[in-house]
Amino acid sequence: MREKDLSGAFPEGREPAFPGTFMGSVTLRQLILAVVAVVSGCGIAPEEAAEAEVGVSEAELFQAPNLTKWAGGLVPICFVNGAPGPEVAWTQDALAKTWATAANIGFIYSSTCPFPGRPWHVQLTFDHITDNWGSRGVADIGMLSPARTTVAVCAANNPNGCRPGQVNAADYEESFRSVVVHEVGHLLGFLHEQQRTDATPICPLTMDSNSVIVPNGVNLTPTYDADSIMNYCRGWNGVAPLPYQVGYRGAELLSVGDAQGARAAYGVRRMTTSQSVSGTSARVTAVDAFGGPVPGASVFYNGAPIATLGQWFTLPPNNGSVCVIVPPECEYGHCTKPRRECEPGVVLEVRAANFTTAKVNIVR
Ligand SMILES: [Zn+2]
Repeated sequence: MREKDLSGAFPEGREPAFPGTFMGSVTLRQLILAVVAVVSGCGIAPEEAAEAEVGVSEAELFQAPNLTKWAGGLVPICFVNGAPGPEVAWTQDALAKTWATAANIGFIYSSTCPFPGRPWHVQLTFDHITDNWGSRGVADIGMLSPARTTVAVCAANNPNGCRPGQVNAADYEESFRSVVVHEVGHLLGFLHEQQRTDATPICPLTMDSNSVIVPNGVNLTPTYDADSIMNYCRGWNGVAPLPYQVGYRGAELLSVGDAQGARAAYGVRRMTTSQSVSGTSARVTAVDAFGGPVPGASVFYNGAPIATLGQWFTLPPNNGSVCVIVPPECEYGHCTKPRRECEPGVVLEVRAANFTTAKVNIVR
């Protein structure tokens, strides 16, 4: 994570989004965290929010009532317009490191809209802004045809120092990423955490353009999560900054509760293994549920790592029973029963962070 100089990081244009009731009793750090929380939220000044969110039933890892989830966890995203710099790449990178790592959620992208061949998709519009570098966004909830989201980008001629090499460039990048992850959280079906019925009253609902408790949403984590990326009061309990994520702010990262909630909604990210055997050597490979790589995975034998994915290793001794189901065989209408046949073999396990483990059986 980067270390950044906070002084002067927030241009005047963002102040109105911050409720005056907080101002009297907070330290600079608390103020910054709270402002970041607003930015991580939809960060929209109230007067803008009312207009921007018309027709959008927002409420955040707190699942919307009557949600239509993305089928198979696959979310096609197309870009309605371009960005002045690396924002498309940041979008893809931020989502890969957050929702797509935490749960069985995958993203595919198209540079043209509508998404070719995918009626159910997300249309992402970049709002090129010059009034401040700050971030804001708005999004629909759940799978729609299409679902829409708008995310602010620092325009090419923005005078507030947010383009590459300028004074606020690093803050802008982190803030932009946090808004993308937050808005895509809405698209996945999550509402604002402070709208749970058990949300601490310390997080004022008035910060939220949707200033209501949503009584019939689904709590995906057992308790209110002050650190959720879907929480306007992220990292803030009204008294002191809460233990936060590693790094400077980690504003673009998920909380532990966010990851748990995403798995509760979309399931654990699955993988499919395959194996090769050559003489006394073997190799195990795997792809994740969306055909991509399984990062950081190792092959375990009797509980101890024996190889990384794709690496050849010497087959260890048999350590279990490798069983297969033999399907029924039919002849002239008479069928055998399916049966389970077992023989001694090497039983391996593939483990990867945030993925299910997978059993691999090799008959020697
Ligand atoms: Zn929001």
